[in-house]
Amino acid sequence: MDDTQLLRYNRHILLPQIDISGQQKLMQATVLIVGLGGLGSPVAMYLAATGVGRLILVDSDLVELSNLQRQIVHDSTQLGQSKAVSASQKLQRLNPTIQIVASQQHLTEDELDRQVEAADVIADCSDNFNTRFALNAASVRHSKPLISGAAMGFKGQVSVFLPAYAESPCYHCLYPATAEEEAETCSQVGIITPLVGVIGSIQAVEIIKVLLNLGQSLCGKLLLFDAYTSEWRTIKLHKDPNCPVCNNVMLESIKKLSKSAV
Ligand SMILES: [Zn+2]
Repeated sequence: MDDTQLLRYNRHILLPQIDISGQQKLMQATVLIVGLGGLGSPVAMYLAATGVGRLILVDSDLVELSNLQRQIVHDSTQLGQSKAVSASQKLQRLNPTIQIVASQQHLTEDELDRQVEAADVIADCSDNFNTRFALNAASVRHSKPLISGAAMGFKGQVSVFLPAYAESPCYHCLYPATAEEEAETCSQVGIITPLVGVIGSIQAVEIIKVLLNLGQSLCGKLLLFDAYTSEWRTIKLHKDPNCPVCNNVMLESIKKLSKSAV
């Protein structure tokens, strides 16, 4: 690490839980961020400021005026631009030392698999169930941590799924319904501006912890925030033994274990 990096990341390096070795690990990490909207904005900005070495940004939408109320990685000069490109410009100014890859296409399953395979952690900052289920399935297939956030109205939630651990639930265990019932979106019900900042910031904290294997993650828990009543709640999540997404993986590992026991 050179002098400017030591200075830039000084307040991180001061933390004994992170130190130079932790910061170096972050600088070598790759995070896939899907969705550069309300949640993706704080996630991407904090990870860029943190010095995460490589950020892959995926969003096929364009910046619209109604986005600017909460999607703070974009600004009024970027209206009509691709969100992935707009965000990458802002993030590169924030931290020119990191590598940013902007993907403005809707990813096919093959492309998603490639991106997930290349990433250390996946940040689900999307706003629809189709994307959420596709990301979850890819996370389980490649055994990559998935940090999932959602926010609408006055309520938000965060959870962490670690498919490398046999006891970790997956997103589908939490929401077994199919994507047919399309979720309500912020465009239909509205959202209080800083709520996405609260939820996205927690996602960024959890991503750093997972990358460095620090503290206790939100794996097996769902953290809920109600901005209207200022209440936080944590509920336990359990793996669904009949989950069609993560159950097969569990069976595979049991098979492997029993084989090695023989
Ligand atoms: Zn599952």
